[in-house]
Amino acid sequence: MRLYSSDALVLRTYRYGEADCIVAFLTADRGKKRGVAKNAVKSRRRFGGALEPLTRGVVTYVEREHRELTRVDRIEARQTPLRAASGRSVDDGAQLLGQAAYFAELLDEWAPLDQANEKMFRLAAAVSEALGAGGSTEALARYFEFWLLRLEGVYPAVDVCARCGERRLSAGAVLLASERRYACLDCAHGGARLSPPAMAFLAGACGRTPHDIATTPVAPGALRELEHAHHRLIAAHLEKELRSARVVRELGSHP
Ligand SMILES: [Zn+2]
Repeated sequence: MRLYSSDALVLRTYRYGEADCIVAFLTADRGKKRGVAKNAVKSRRRFGGALEPLTRGVVTYVEREHRELTRVDRIEARQTPLRAASGRSVDDGAQLLGQAAYFAELLDEWAPLDQANEKMFRLAAAVSEALGAGGSTEALARYFEFWLLRLEGVYPAVDVCARCGERRLSAGAVLLASERRYACLDCAHGGARLSPPAMAFLAGACGRTPHDIATTPVAPGALRELEHAHHRLIAAHLEKELRSARVVRELGSHP
């Protein structure tokens, strides 16, 4: 048995039996972990509101040999989406909590267990902090999707057309969902279209902070186009992952 205390973000919780919960959390130093929080349903003293998705704090947990599940002893919340939402209007607060849950779900889907990924943690921490600081949660969501896929090395090139390799995409682009690439308007027909303001958002996202992105006005139409394109990209990637996992499993069952 070994005790750890890590700066972490809470991703998801599942009810486990009558009184316990399983918590998935992303640590800064040791990657994603899952652990049992004993009596979490009742013990407000130890866990309070800290089980809310995207809560950041210090998680104290015990790892046992040969067991994937750790034991979560305590979560000292430093920053919670609930606290950030409390200063807002009912609608804004609900939207903030919804985005926080979405970010946490994306992280849970993309972060592998037990593999430290400092860049992913830093991105998630910066975005969750910006979420509480005000500004557009929509712009922040598109920024977060862009960077998460970029860190994984799977975000398509945003400067030049993937088909002809010549035309700049600043004039607009089309997502080729099956190829997971962007093409210029001459090379692609049909598919999700991205207007020049949407492409300008992507080009600018590389060198800007989450707070900067959230507080700079963007045309709502451009954010909707990006939402559509990103959801298709994410679905295409996750489906591929799932399919490869299924193939591995099927191969394993027929030696
Ligand atoms: Zn082209």
